[in-house]
Amino acid sequence: MIVVMKRSATEEMVQQMAQRIENMGLKAHIIVGTERTVIAAIGEKRNGEQATLESCEEVDKVVPILAPFKIASVETKPEPTVVQVRDLKIGGDSIGVIAGPCSVEGEEQILAVAQAVKQAGATGLRGGAFKPRTSPYSFQGMKEDGLKLLAAARDMTGLAIVTEVMTPHHVELVAKYADVLQIGARNMQNYHLLQAVGETRMPVLLKRGASATMDEFLLAAEYILDQGNSQVILCERGVRTFEAHTRFTLPLATVPYLHEKTHLPIIIDPSHGTGIASLVPSMCHASIAAGCDGLILEVHPDPSQALSDGAQSVTPAVFQDIMEQCRKIAEVFGRHCS
Ligand code: PEP
Ligand code: MN
Repeated sequence: MIVVMKRSATEEMVQQMAQRIENMGLKAHIIVGTERTVIAAIGEKRNGEQATLESCEEVDKVVPILAPFKIASVETKPEPTVVQVRDLKIGGDSIGVIAGPCSVEGEEQILAVAQAVKQAGATGLRGGAFKPRTSPYSFQGMKEDGLKLLAAARDMTGLAIVTEVMTPHHVELVAKYADVLQIGARNMQNYHLLQAVGETRMPVLLKRGASATMDEFLLAAEYILDQGNSQVILCERGVRTFEAHTRFTLPLATVPYLHEKTHLPIIIDPSHGTGIASLVPSMCHASIAAGCDGLILEVHPDPSQALSDGAQSVTPAVFQDIMEQCRKIAEVFGRHCS
């Protein structure tokens, strides 16, 4: 249920109402909107609660949340959520661009990419230190050494660091160095990991599982939100289909669809979505035209030498062209690349 408080309700009244909801055995999530405050009361539905809450003086109305994902739903919060960390701003008028290599490979590589993408206008730096690889014999990432290099790149450029965390045991370690915790496609339904990153209160970039439905995707986000962490960024990175001309199939209709269902920002990963560097620029342009709130792109100084995902990585020069085109397209839609 959504308990919509009257405009006149004070902070104290909101807190008391939240307590009252908790006393009923429900979980209360306070959502402060621009217009008014609502409290999402989450839990098993029982008889009589709606009428009881509705009879309270400071309550305007109580409405059921129809979507299975409760806190993520536009029914609970119609205004778009904007996630900001350092200069990376994702949502609302801002299209945040995160760029960098698939994996952190060494000091020279990460500092060179960081400088190049910063100069081209990116505000976030991606780079995996813990890598989920299909084969156990492939490069698994530089681990904590990689995290330290990302932090050094942030010190040098001011870029917000986006990096993957693969297990609840590493959340504390990765959180020490990162600005945004990435949950990879393979872990979208790792519910303990979702809860663990939910507890941090740090921005979380949640990638769609390669075979996850929209409801499963939004319910995965709900696991993070349910821990009290409201800073969730959804990322479409392509799904597995019968089609083999691209690594995955990148469905851009998920952008307007998700905007109809959730207030959470949605970004696109055209690198994993296509697997082919030459297709990446066009998919960036199309993603912005489709209304995405950001992009996450793989950029490598020498893609042919990359230790992972070289075939889908663009060079810094191509990235610069992408940024220039994206700025123009964003402007047509009254938005800007932050
Ligand atoms: C990545 O970002 O390098 C990555 C492993 O992505 P995904 O989880 O989408 O496969
Ligand atoms: Mn990759």
